[in-house]
Amino acid sequence: MGLELVSNLMEVYTAEDPMAFDHPEGDPWADFREIMRIEWTMDFKYKHVLGKYSKFFIELANRKFLATECKGCGKVWAIPRPLCSDCLSITRWKELSGKGTLESYSVSYFVPAFMEVEIPYILAMVRLDGADTLFTHQLRNYGELDNIKVDMPVKVAYATEPVDHPMLLMHFEPA
Ligand SMILES: [Zn+2]
Repeated sequence: MGLELVSNLMEVYTAEDPMAFDHPEGDPWADFREIMRIEWTMDFKYKHVLGKYSKFFIELANRKFLATECKGCGKVWAIPRPLCSDCLSITRWKELSGKGTLESYSVSYFVPAFMEVEIPYILAMVRLDGADTLFTHQLRNYGELDNIKVDMPVKVAYATEPVDHPMLLMHFEPA
């Protein structure tokens, strides 16, 4: 018996010293170049409570877009905040129309493997009508990249298929 005891073993190999030319006295890691590679399936559930933000997601499922309004200074937060970061007052929920303006965006041709999204991924920063802050989310259904312009009108669109996280109940698209 030996390595065949490791049922998920892929390979054992010798890693090269990537800095070999810099070591006049030889490879200092020579004793550690033998590498074992395994295939390891991890499957776990993560329980996540959405806390004071829950109502935002509950109403997204009802196709309503909520911000919060500060009872102290009147600032409207979208992304909602239970507590106003400016004056530390507790806020209240306020429904917005979901229409807004594209303030900025970035085009990403790389996303982590666990994100099953279309490439390129457009991350939009939107000032929703009635809000004092910017809301960041994916822009979809824009057609060609050249169609995306700063200051263009956009709107919240709602998921029509089941989603893996309530954040995916919405995205932005051209209005
Ligand atoms: Zn405030």
